[in-house]
Amino acid sequence: MKLHEYQSKDLLARYGVPVPGGRVAQNGADARTIAEELGGKVVVKAQVLMGGRGKAGGVKLFDDAASAGSFAGELIGKRLVSIQNPQGMVVEQVLVAEQIDIAEEYYVAVLTDRASERNVVMLSAKGGMDIEEVAKTDPEAIVKLEIDPKWGLADFELRKAVKHAHIPVPAQRQMVEMVKRLARAFVENDAELVEINPCAWTPQGKLIAADAKVAIDDNALFRHPEYRSTSDDSAEDPLEAEAARRGIAYVRLGGDIGIIGNGAGLVMCSLDEVTAAGGRPANFLDVGGGAQAERVHSCVELILMDPNVKGLLINIFGGITRGDEVAKGLKEAFASLDLKIPVVARIEGTAAEEGKAILADSIIVPTTTMQEAAAKIVELAYA
Ligand code: GDP
Ligand code: MN
Repeated sequence: MKLHEYQSKDLLARYGVPVPGGRVAQNGADARTIAEELGGKVVVKAQVLMGGRGKAGGVKLFDDAASAGSFAGELIGKRLVSIQNPQGMVVEQVLVAEQIDIAEEYYVAVLTDRASERNVVMLSAKGGMDIEEVAKTDPEAIVKLEIDPKWGLADFELRKAVKHAHIPVPAQRQMVEMVKRLARAFVENDAELVEINPCAWTPQGKLIAADAKVAIDDNALFRHPEYRSTSDDSAEDPLEAEAARRGIAYVRLGGDIGIIGNGAGLVMCSLDEVTAAGGRPANFLDVGGGAQAERVHSCVELILMDPNVKGLLINIFGGITRGDEVAKGLKEAFASLDLKIPVVARIEGTAAEEGKAILADSIIVPTTTMQEAAAKIVELAYA
């Protein structure tokens, strides 16, 4: 789960990471008040969960509170589009923060690196808005330091990495301190990512987090109830948020063939088969093991909330999931939903025959193999 910049900064400030003062506002008038409190010289920043806000026009510096307030007023309600997020996101709040003078911009992050199976520190003296470009054209400029899971970060290796990353001498001590604090915050909050870009070096000789990005491992959210309440954040896809509320494993994929299966592997196979047959999967949806009729019903409802869906494929291989329970759920769902799209089902395994019998007089087209099912739904949906 990604945290907003202001939440990330609050979290890191608790670990002693220097961050500029500021608060969030939901409208221009509040933004202006906050800007006045901060003395007028502020930066207004869209709080949307996407990268590249600066280039998208979502970050702007001001010298007086009135202009900051009116810009905030215009920005709120607008959709920001960036290279990282072409679909864009609507701005619901802005962070109004003390503007800092920046002499240099560095990059520092702690993240989990699958290749080395370690948490790693990433450091670069070439931070700022073009770090992705640096990674491509000048990867040597980004230093990676693995964190030993048993011993943690040793001071000497951290100092070496900071030098190696060409962080200038006067900033080195503060950077070592900063990384230690980030690494602690990372571990104690079950984070997947803690990133400061830019990590600003001021003309006054102070290192400060001008931006911050923290992502918490979703599987650990039960240990961080303070963030759970925001997990249905309106900035997320509304259907994925609804799925989360219903406790359904669902990912929206943007196509038009709805897919329900049991088990992540089987669902992914179904996506591949639909794609191979010339279809565009609308979603990933795993009903989970041992799903009862009510849950199946809820899954069908969810898929149909996506207005793009033109056809529905159900692929169940019964183990602990029973074909008859799935069939009952489908029947209930179709009775209450007045379905106007074709539905193809492949139900095999435990209680498959009972399941098929339940669906015998329904609109559902039965099939026996996954390939056949995929071909059939593509044929019917795009007819
Ligand atoms: P991002 O584009 O979404 O990563 O948003 P950032 O928070 O990183 O802001 C983009 C850019 O705006 C930064 O790289 C900075 O150059 C600039 N910026 C942000 N805050 C300040 C500030 O307080 N003072 C100055 N001078 N520049 C800032
Ligand atoms: Mn940034």
